[in-house]
Amino acid sequence: MTGSPTARPSPNFNARATGTDISMLILHYTNMTDAEAALARLCDPASQVSAHYLIARDGEVFALVDEADRAWHAGVSAWQGIRDINSASVGIELDHPGHDVGGQMTAYPPAQMAALVDLSKAIITRHNIPPDKVLGHSDVAPGRKIDPGEALDWAALAREGVGLWPEAVEPEEVATLKPGDATPAVAALQQALRAYGYDIAHDGVFGAQMSAVISAFQRHFRPSCVDGQADGETQTLVYAVCRAQAALDRGSVSP
Ligand SMILES: [Zn+2]
Repeated sequence: MTGSPTARPSPNFNARATGTDISMLILHYTNMTDAEAALARLCDPASQVSAHYLIARDGEVFALVDEADRAWHAGVSAWQGIRDINSASVGIELDHPGHDVGGQMTAYPPAQMAALVDLSKAIITRHNIPPDKVLGHSDVAPGRKIDPGEALDWAALAREGVGLWPEAVEPEEVATLKPGDATPAVAALQQALRAYGYDIAHDGVFGAQMSAVISAFQRHFRPSCVDGQADGETQTLVYAVCRAQAALDRGSVSP
């Protein structure tokens, strides 16, 4: 869907921290029944939350906070050492009911995805946001947030030029790493997850934090299995994502 966003100004914003460039795009789901309910909450001074944009299920885009200002969507979060994610990012809320009680999600409608691609590409171009800085709320707040959820088709977004996606690789035949493990393979995987950007300790121990980060990674890159354990496919994907990121840093084009 093209055309200008519908203005729905929210009072919930302040100035970005001095000297902080916009370098990230953070995607969310609203976890509410419909767009009107979400807009009411995002524009309610008492809620203390907002985003720069909300995209309804039919693809209508609402503009709530000027991109120059700091919207309040990320909360306590971190990526590549950046902790004031709200100052460093543009935030988009996707109108979506969230995970159900059984942990299942409905698909994001095609019209909403098309609008997300158009809006994201415009934001990425305006602020020169690199592909590896297009992230989900769960990526920057693992263990605390699970949105936008594994139903978001990150691979399809990447095919449209929004975000990073690794090249296809055969999963390695290695043992699954799981909570309680403390091996060189755990330490190596932590180092890779840190290098990519996750806020994770490099202590060689597969604890609750690592399980939360693995779940966040799986929601983004391995949506068919989000279990907080690093099987061979998950481990292979982590290293493939790091290679794709390194290729970006060298200025070459990732396949
Ligand atoms: Zn969120």
